This record gives sequence, C-alpha cells and structure tokens, in this order.
Amino acid sequence: MSWQVARDISEILNKAAAGGGIDRAEAVRLMHINPLSKEGYALMQTADRLSRQTFCNKGESHFHIGVNVEPCPMDCRFCSLTKGAGIFTERTEFPYQQVLAWARLAEARSADALNIMTTGTYSFEKLLEIGKLLKGAVSTPLVANTRDISHKEGERLLAAGFVGFYHAVRLGEGRDTPFSREKRIATISVLRDVGLLWMNCVEPVGPEHSVEEIVDLMFLARQYRAAYSGAMRRINFPGSPMSRYGMVNELELAKVTAVSRLVMGDIPRAHCTHEPNGTSLMAGANLLFPEVGSSPRDNRPDSSEGIGRDARACRKMLMEMGWNPDLPSNCFGSVARQVPVNAQDERLGAESVSTATTTT
Ligand code: SF4
Repeated sequence: MSWQVARDISEILNKAAAGGGIDRAEAVRLMHINPLSKEGYALMQTADRLSRQTFCNKGESHFHIGVNVEPCPMDCRFCSLTKGAGIFTERTEFPYQQVLAWARLAEARSADALNIMTTGTYSFEKLLEIGKLLKGAVSTPLVANTRDISHKEGERLLAAGFVGFYHAVRLGEGRDTPFSREKRIATISVLRDVGLLWMNCVEPVGPEHSVEEIVDLMFLARQYRAAYSGAMRRINFPGSPMSRYGMVNELELAKVTAVSRLVMGDIPRAHCTHEPNGTSLMAGANLLFPEVGSSPRDNRPDSSEGIGRDARACRKMLMEMGWNPDLPSNCFGSVARQVPVNAQDERLGAESVSTATTTT
C-alpha cells in the first residue's frame, strides 16, 4: 500500500503548513476531499500540527452560559428558542444568582472564558448588569453573545467588563434568518473599532450548505481577523424545520474544521469546534464550549440537563486528545495585538460595510 497523497493536495497542504493561509480555490478543493481517504487524513494532520505549534498545545475551554429562554420572534430556522419551533412558550430568565453560581463553577473548573449568551430580544441593560456582576465576582474573561450592536453599545459592553463578543454571519443568513449579512458585518466592524475581540465560528453547518457558501464564511473570518474561528454543525432539535436536511456527522465536521484552520493560517489565537467532539481535536480545533443554561440546539431550558457537555467532560476530552487545559489561555493576552488601532483590514475584496445601527 502506498501512502502517497495526490500531488495537488500535497502542494496545497505544504503551502498551508507554513501558516500563511490558502486561497479560495484551494479551500474548495480541500472541502471536496473524502475525509476517510489518505488525503483526508493528511488534511486533518496538517491542520492539527499547525494548531499544536501555533497554540503551544493549549486546550481552551470557554464556558457558555445561556441566560434566558424565550419564544424568540426572530425565528431563525435552525434555533430551538424560536416562537415558530413552539418548544418554549414562556419567557424564562435565569436569576442573576444562578448565573453567578454558574460563573463561579466555571472559574473553579479553570474555564478560560465565560460566553454569556442571550436570545435576540433580551434586554441589553440586563446583559450589562450581568457583566458588571460577574466582573466583580470572578476573574474569568467575559465574552458577550447577543444581537447586533452599535458603537455606543460596544463601548458600554467594554465598560461593563466584557473583553470579547461572539458574533457570526450565519450560513443561510437572510434565508434561514431575518438578518442581513451586511448588518452582521457592520457589528463585526464595531467590535474592531471599539476594541472588543471578535469571536467567530462557521455555523451552523448542515448538508444543505454548498462548499462555496461554507468556504466564503471561512474567508470572512480571516478577512476580519477573528480571534478564533472554527466550525459548528447544526443540531436538529426534535421538530426542527431543518430535520429534512439531516445533519453532518462528526467526521465531516472535523474536515470542515481542518479546512477552516488552514484558511485562518497565522491569524487566530484558537480554533473552535461544537458540539464538543474528539475528532475535531485531531483536525485543528483546540477550543471547546461547556454549556449551561439556554442553548439554541436544545429543547430543554437548561442545556446542562440536555445536550450540553460540562466543564469536566470538556477538560477530559481535551486531555484525551493531547491538549493541555492547564496552560494560560492564548485568547486574552492583549486586545491591542488583535485589533491594532487604525489597522487595515486584511480584506480580500471590497466589502461594503455600512455604519452599525442598533438592531433587534
Ligand atoms: S438564533 Fe438568536 S435571534 Fe435567532 S431565533 Fe435563536 S435566539 Fe432568536
């Protein structure tokens, strides 16, 4: 048996291994690889090696706290927290003391960040209150995960203690969501302007998405210099309108994670995968999200009683795959390093970005 890898793939992987990134045509070529072929293993090994070198073997764990459940009127078709899904018919806001208890648990479990998630119409003032409460109680860096924001709101998040902001242009944006790509990108520009780290993921990946659509979002993350990117698959909750498309398996997710890692090159501080899985931790991912509270992938109000993995499970998964969760995080050393004042975007095309506006 020969271990020779197809020459065109070998050339792309050799280029990617240097960390300078690859171009769109090369990423598309890699996305068409069968992950169980020799080329598939070579792809994942190249991404894995790049991450272990770049991230100095650090395994990251960013603890997700979903602070409320509601029948969200935004009705994103992949989300369980929608009015349309009919799973949650009443608003539930986890008491601040519960959020605080989760944050203290995360800190005790050595989480590298707290990812505070709200639904699309949750009170921004309450999110600020939670930020101030947690900032005064735990030392774990705070990341907000909420609706699109204006510059003023970005500055208020910073003042409340947040240092990062998770935000994604979704696959199917404008088709499966009521939001426009331009509005999402405007918020990403706000983050850069005010000095909040932009956390991103290519999501929610499903079998219905074209290779070109997925690759396009990988390059968006590179162009706007995400602190981390990665790949998350769509989870079909019971009764999901997306069920007819099925779901990608973890093997396919690992391949997407690997291609995304090679696209990001030397830009990111970490590379994520979700739901937590071991396969992607051998394909360029080093960042997992333990979960408590609400989750757009679960039909239970508290995901720790559903599909969410807890901090211990994520830690064990990282260690089983040879990542060290006890090293300091690479993500929060210096915001200035990631968002240089007046820096030019590394944008491949002329993206038209409008001034951010407050949205719901
Ligand atoms: S993804 Fe966010 S905005 Fe969209 S329906 Fe779910 S909670 Fe609402």
